[in-house]
Amino acid sequence: MDARGESARGESNAAFSGAPLAAISDALLAWYDAHARRLPWRTPPGGALPDPYRVWLSEIMLQQTTVAAVIPYFAQFTARWPDVDALASADEGEVMAAWAGLGFYARARSLIACARAIAAAGGRFPGSETELRRLPGLGAYTAAAVAAIGFGARAVVVDANVERVTARLFAIAKPLPAGRAAIREAAGAITPEVRAGDFAQGMMDLGATVCTSRAPKCLLCPLWFGCVAAREGRPEAYPVKAPKPVRPERRGVAYWIMREGAVWLVRRPGRGMLGGMRALPDDGWRAGADGDGAAALPGAWQSAGVVSHGFTHFTLALEVRVYAGDAVPLGEGEWWPLSRLDEAGLPTLFAKAAAQALA
Ligand code: SF4
Repeated sequence: MDARGESARGESNAAFSGAPLAAISDALLAWYDAHARRLPWRTPPGGALPDPYRVWLSEIMLQQTTVAAVIPYFAQFTARWPDVDALASADEGEVMAAWAGLGFYARARSLIACARAIAAAGGRFPGSETELRRLPGLGAYTAAAVAAIGFGARAVVVDANVERVTARLFAIAKPLPAGRAAIREAAGAITPEVRAGDFAQGMMDLGATVCTSRAPKCLLCPLWFGCVAAREGRPEAYPVKAPKPVRPERRGVAYWIMREGAVWLVRRPGRGMLGGMRALPDDGWRAGADGDGAAALPGAWQSAGVVSHGFTHFTLALEVRVYAGDAVPLGEGEWWPLSRLDEAGLPTLFAKAAAQALA
């Protein structure tokens, strides 16, 4: 697709012949001015730009997570660490514990690394997309979002909502992920020179509230006049997705060892899955481990059942085994009081396993 409205199928995009691309961005901005969602990391449309720290923090949290889930975490983080210098000086374990439940823990580690890199360079975020890309944990999307929303730069911001709206507007038929290049190009064609941050947030809001995955509300949409998918009468057909590969299943075992009202917790290695997080001891649950690794202690064990958890590339069936003997675990770990288990910062997988053991 190019800025003249050639579709990914090589056909002329007739619906845009009477709708200049600038009309799309104007209509979207006018809609955003009236309907912007009020979110704690935002400022009102057309007003002062938000603090880049808050934009960055929210964008890292929002990756793979819903707005509703992020709001309480964002409030907690900004209350404890109100600026990038405060976050840079925070204890890493405390940040990881505060992140617990948001998932994708590599993001929390890059969050700390990025805050420290910015603090070391004087405590200010760089304003250009190119410089932002050099920071730890900032991919193309986040760099564009921080540049556009936090600094007002013209950057093309394409998240899942923008991707869906754009694919429908231009009826881009090339299946994802290969179709992303055409979608990005189309999004670039309608991104205005000024208010690119408001435009991006408007597209996100439109995707979240009007141009939803299922049952988009085309009759309420400010972009209906130029939308090819709506004219075709089948907006839900876009974006076209390639069939998903089946996620493999791994199996593993977690060990629940109690003594005098406390449970034995370990700290996972810094690198790897759930790295640096507090956890129950387990058997490693690597591919092929088959869930029958040696128990951590000799003696009687009872199965408390299996919990299931989805990671990006696999699902894990984790059996929880409860220790009934009186031997003491060797190695590094700590007895954590059951009465304060919710303060341990267990990632969701191990919080599920703990609930299973206690059920
Ligand atoms: Fe989405 Fe319908 Fe609007 Fe097109 S008209 S952008 S399909 S809500």
